[in-house]
Amino acid sequence: MKAPAFAYVRARSLAEVLDLLQKHGDRARLLAGGQSLIATLNMRLSAPELLIDISRLRELSGIKVGNGRVRIGALTTHAEIERSAEIAKHLPLLAQAAPHIAHAAIRNVGTFGGSLALADPAAEWPACCVALDARFTLAGKRGTRQVRAREFFKGLYSTALRPAEVLTQVDIPIPGPGYRSAFVELARRRGDYAIVGLAALAKNARGALSDVRLAFFGVGAAPVLAKSAMAAIDGKPASSGAAAAKALDKDLDPGPDLYSSAATKMQLARVLTGRALATLAA
Ligand code: FAD
Repeated sequence: MKAPAFAYVRARSLAEVLDLLQKHGDRARLLAGGQSLIATLNMRLSAPELLIDISRLRELSGIKVGNGRVRIGALTTHAEIERSAEIAKHLPLLAQAAPHIAHAAIRNVGTFGGSLALADPAAEWPACCVALDARFTLAGKRGTRQVRAREFFKGLYSTALRPAEVLTQVDIPIPGPGYRSAFVELARRRGDYAIVGLAALAKNARGALSDVRLAFFGVGAAPVLAKSAMAAIDGKPASSGAAAAKALDKDLDPGPDLYSSAATKMQLARVLTGRALATLAA
């Protein structure tokens, strides 16, 4: 199928984008890497009148380190994050997650901000941002506002973004000394969206874990921070992983998908918890 007819503008500045969004409202759609949007247009799941191409806005791209945080521009591609020495050094969780996203050709074009704005429930970046307690900057005509990742994802493909806002950058605090991360995912084939995945982070002091973050994806409409499981392991020896896996019953209530029953997903989430905790505690 071909996309319905639409007008196209290649934006030259963020100010121009915000003007166009204000003027056209819901009838316009931002085009970043196009790796999700173009497919939905071709399948006629979406029929915007205007595509605003933001892909050339250099001001929304790049990775910067300073003041104890890493700032990632919304247009930074998955591949740039995957290859970045700064990311590998300061945010290894993102470096571990990147190769799981789609395939190399898609990672070369698809963007960090596009994935976060789309909020696919089985996507990797949203869960990583929740685990890392990232802050999103949302720009609108009246200025910018910051939203924590934990408040940004509202539900299935639903976020805190208002219709005339643009996600411009993401600020992620650099975990201090002693922090370890683990990224584990089960998919039918490498490059497929996850059946279940887990982005995990904790401080490891001689085998005891504290400040544990377990952010699951593929088990609900949005990333799920498994608070009961986190509490079950926090401050305790790593051997209490079984208690964390059991506590997941209170945190997760996955529905079935095309290939896996709810019970299978729950079992896979327990298995992934054990694997992630073993890595964090090693
Ligand atoms: P686009 O497709 O351009 O836009 C997506 C949506 O976000 C649109 O509604 C757009 O208007 C909006 N948007 C984009 N940028 C912004 C912004 N800065 N502010 C506000 N709104 C914005 N993703 C995964 O996470 N894991 C996978 O395993 C995976 N597998 C894939 C497999 C295939 C075969 C394909 C085609 C895609 C896959 N993807 C996967 C999706 C891919 O990661 C996309 O790159 C990503 O979801 C969207 O990024 P994009 O830059 O292409 O956004």
